Amino acid sequence: MEDGVKMKRILVIHTGGTISMKENKETGEVNTSSQHPMDEISTMLKGTTEIEDEILFYLPSPHIRPDHMLKLGRAIHEKISKKNYDGIVITHGTDTLEETAYFLDLFLQTRKPVVVTGAMRSSNEIGSDGLYNLLSAIRVASCDEAQDKGVLVVMNDEIHTAKNVTKTSTSNVATFQSPQYGPIGITTKSEVFFHHKMTRHESYPIQNINKRVSLIKAYAGMDGSLIDAVRESQVDGLIIEALGQGNLPPETVDALKRTLDDSIPIVLVSRCYQGIVQDTYGYPGGGRELKEMGIVFANGLTGPKARIKLMVALEMTSNLTELEHIFS
Ligand code: ASP
Repeated sequence: MEDGVKMKRILVIHTGGTISMKENKETGEVNTSSQHPMDEISTMLKGTTEIEDEILFYLPSPHIRPDHMLKLGRAIHEKISKKNYDGIVITHGTDTLEETAYFLDLFLQTRKPVVVTGAMRSSNEIGSDGLYNLLSAIRVASCDEAQDKGVLVVMNDEIHTAKNVTKTSTSNVATFQSPQYGPIGITTKSEVFFHHKMTRHESYPIQNINKRVSLIKAYAGMDGSLIDAVRESQVDGLIIEALGQGNLPPETVDALKRTLDDSIPIVLVSRCYQGIVQDTYGYPGGGRELKEMGIVFANGLTGPKARIKLMVALEMTSNLTELEHIFS
């Protein structure tokens, strides 16, 4: 380390996932192991970066629930209020990584870099990407330019925002993409480059995350039965991944009205990979009718992320006008 260059102090919190696992060479099964496979990062970075690491959970990410996300958010909050870290890195299973990252983005109120990473291949597989991604994430979290950007996701040499990133492939190491917007930066062997600026960041310091919000996807020929079933299960909110620009088959309309009459807010996103929902079409079930009915249109989020946002928002309000504002 050059004279006068301050050693960075990075907090690493492990939550589980493939990055924390090993492959059994005989059976091919991937599972947790007695020693955390990312332990060696501290030794690798000795003399340049001070790593403090902690295993908060050892969970595959399909086992992660919103209450785990809140626990993680609180743990970060507590740690950074006690010690001056330069950045925070979270390792996480990739299946629900985007939901946890987006929750943290909405929850945390820090200017410090917060970076989430994971791996598609476990630590002892050929071409394992865990240690590499962790190293890249630590480099981004150590970088002053990564401040004030909300929560970032670093995988496969790319830096994405928690808001836009999504897992696009079941197995490819280039799985994390930000459709429509692309990454906001890249990492090279020696540098971290940001090429896009965040325009807006919101945060909601909620105390609980207990609301029940369901998510359903629309399809050709859909009727109201699924919507009624969700309504009858007494949820606090419903997200629908609608067709195209934000339209639903006309046979769903009565069930939607019954749901709204029961004071269950409905938030609409699109099942399309890109674009935002709009109240363009005037035919029965078209966006215009849905909006007039009181359905909230979410601005460019995926279904799972709109669900996280509605869970967070419902901790503060169930007023449709206020929800509209939060989602606009
Ligand atoms: N199924 C794993 C998980 O999300 C996948 C991964 O971590 O890459 O925990």
